[in-house]
Amino acid sequence: MEDTEIIELASDVFSKITDDLNDGLYKELKGNISIRWGTKRCFSAYAAVGSSVEDPPKHYIGLTYDTAIMLYRDIEDYYGYIEYGADNDKFDIMLKGYDYPKELSPEPQKEYCCKNMFISGLTWIFFHELGHLVQEHGYIRTLYECSESTDIVDCASNDNENSNNLKGKASAISHATEIAADYYAIMSVLNALIRHFESDELESEIKSFIAVLALVFYRFHGVNSYVRTEVPEGSHPQPLIRLENTMPLIVEFYSNFGILEDKGSNMSRLDLINITSWSSFSVGLFWLRKSRSSGLPEDFFLLGSLQRPGMKNYHRVIMDTWDEIKPKIDQVKRLDEPLSELKFTDQYRKILHKDC
Ligand SMILES: [Zn+2]
Repeated sequence: MEDTEIIELASDVFSKITDDLNDGLYKELKGNISIRWGTKRCFSAYAAVGSSVEDPPKHYIGLTYDTAIMLYRDIEDYYGYIEYGADNDKFDIMLKGYDYPKELSPEPQKEYCCKNMFISGLTWIFFHELGHLVQEHGYIRTLYECSESTDIVDCASNDNENSNNLKGKASAISHATEIAADYYAIMSVLNALIRHFESDELESEIKSFIAVLALVFYRFHGVNSYVRTEVPEGSHPQPLIRLENTMPLIVEFYSNFGILEDKGSNMSRLDLINITSWSSFSVGLFWLRKSRSSGLPEDFFLLGSLQRPGMKNYHRVIMDTWDEIKPKIDQVKRLDEPLSELKFTDQYRKILHKDC
């Protein structure tokens, strides 16, 4: 596809989602949501607010043209990488016993497959920004002096000009709201896939979405080493932490309540674990090749969400922060949809508070 066709497709996807929102939620709120395209040469999206929390919402989601183009090119390159099988010897060792995919789709369906991955990746980015907006995270952040503005900018680490110096409480608020926006986005996409697809098509959409989500997070991460983290610092959690938070949600959501079975799919919990592991690992290796990285950055591949040193403490801070701001969010949020709001089970709370 030419760059212009990619932009056209992205515009169509966003128009469809914003039209639906303006005919539904935003109509009820007597407000409006619209898209703003930017020409900055970086991978970046943002959520902006042109209203106060007492008034009907005027919300904007911004995206650079380059974000759409880079995402599509990453998908095409990853498709080629899997088809070529350059790292299959590594997958054979790492994923012993798992018959991992040797192609993302049969070759004649390449463009169709890439477009589908692109649409689900873009949709996730859109819903991440929408999560910030419907929960009025910009307003919440101003209460804690995370930022003077209610705008929220999400960009890849290599493109982050204003690598900020947030620390302490302000950083914790920023991280917790990022994780809440990720949660909102993932639940929105997983629900949408269930609503729109079934059986084989549903399985293939789930696999595509898992792969493209890993691509988005590695694009955010770049070829940096993981930095040991015990408390939030800066505006965003490290992308690998975000990916590690998100993948188990996919497994949990689809392996409970017979959701997939009801839609004619036999995908088991083990299948979901295998596909999330393979996608994350293969995208990590792909990213090293794509970036022509000469060495292996430290702790570059996915681990369990609590496995990295310091992660228990980190997540405890996030949970306590979320518990503190959630009542404030409840007062100003534009959408009452508990299923898409970040939550922590009693069991998880016990794990985080054990031995501390
Ligand atoms: Zn964000």
